[in-house]
Amino acid sequence: MKILKFGGSSVGDAKRINQVIDILINGYIKKNQKIAVVFSAFQGVTDKLIETGQLALQRKLIYKDELDRLRSKHEEINHQLNHGIGAGTTDEKISELFDELTEILHGVFLVKELSPRTLDYIVSFGEKLSCTIISSTLKNRKIVCEFLDASRLIKTDDNFGNARVDFRKTNRNIANHFKKHKNLQIITGFISSTENNEITTLGRGGSDYTASIFGAALNAELIEIWTDVNGIMTADPRKVKRAFSLNSVTYEEAMELSHFGAKVIYPPTMLPALQKKIKIVIKNTFNPSFKGTYILEKEVSKNFTVKGISSIDDISIVRVQGGGMIGVTGFAGRLFNVFGRLGINIILITQASSEHSICLAIPPKQGDAARKAIEEEFRLEIFDGKVGEVKVEDNLSIIAVVGEKMRHTPGVAGAVFNSLGKNKINIIAIAQGSSELNISLVINKNDLSRSLNILHNALLKK
Ligand code: ASP
Ligand code: MG
Repeated sequence: MKILKFGGSSVGDAKRINQVIDILINGYIKKNQKIAVVFSAFQGVTDKLIETGQLALQRKLIYKDELDRLRSKHEEINHQLNHGIGAGTTDEKISELFDELTEILHGVFLVKELSPRTLDYIVSFGEKLSCTIISSTLKNRKIVCEFLDASRLIKTDDNFGNARVDFRKTNRNIANHFKKHKNLQIITGFISSTENNEITTLGRGGSDYTASIFGAALNAELIEIWTDVNGIMTADPRKVKRAFSLNSVTYEEAMELSHFGAKVIYPPTMLPALQKKIKIVIKNTFNPSFKGTYILEKEVSKNFTVKGISSIDDISIVRVQGGGMIGVTGFAGRLFNVFGRLGINIILITQASSEHSICLAIPPKQGDAARKAIEEEFRLEIFDGKVGEVKVEDNLSIIAVVGEKMRHTPGVAGAVFNSLGKNKINIIAIAQGSSELNISLVINKNDLSRSLNILHNALLKK
């Protein structure tokens, strides 16, 4: 069994859906391969559903126009795919879904409330609609298949918007379902439900995760993520001209690379696959002959030490320094707590062994709030002069050099600093975890594009 997943851009319109169906028929069905296929909502639909919910919340009646547009979009795709043959019955299903959605949005409009719970319910229609239309289309083309609402099988907690999966229940549900249903399953990505059957979602981009959950539950031989680019590349090709696709990376490398901007795969996807050692391959719907990037446990190829260079383009750093921090326990704990309370995500942390200063990288525009809260938390220490001024710097970027083989390979950091130094690029902060999988550098945003290219030239020769 293989689990395939096609993302929103692969099913952006009727033409693309036809391409996907061709891939399914020629690549798998004709060859009698056993597959199950996960789909995202059509391109842009999840965003639109969120927007519509927010408009209703703000009591802006144009939410109805947005809803009508979404309805027409789905009807149009259905008609293009199924003209004459059974478009009508699918229209009815589409209509039912939109009627339900209309009622929910009307409720939001009336009570002026859009809780994360309601929002999950609203966005879940994206995947229900796409899979309803695609499964009907396949049936009309004489491919035996069934629509599977995965929210019935994937059980989670009630952390709406980013729910945590209960794998024990979920795995059992999936295994049972597939024992009883032998036909091709067309599976809704992204959506799940609580014990009380309230709809939850697995986080934006969560359809990848759905594929991996099914793959692991069914002990699939392979999980194929079909997207719109040539797999995982050594760098963002929009920023680095010489970037190229990698044949394979490890789960950890994929996770590191996808944290840093290369949004090819949703990072949590790696976990269920890794636990069962199931390979993932990233394929390109628009270039089906591309072999794909394999994500696996151990690299077999001799390949490169550094596998990729990625970046977070806009960050700020907060620096706290002072003699009163040296040898004092609990200081870092209090500091991190401040960020936790404010809900500010810490991207990178450095503290040199002198313990004289701690530097934290955070998303942009949150520096001032962080500074105020830190000054509040440490006001006594600041008063006593144990902690100095809290400084915030904006317009910075982080570059991450990633590769599992960097571990125990001397000289990589040397090459990184040398090449940047020779080009007079100033490094503001450096972090390398002891896993040695990732060297991260903070630099000025203005130097970003040049630094990426310099590092790519120095570290990644094909
Ligand atoms: N439709 C959802 C989103 O846009 C899930 C996905 O595409 O993977 O986030
Ligand atoms: Mg999407």
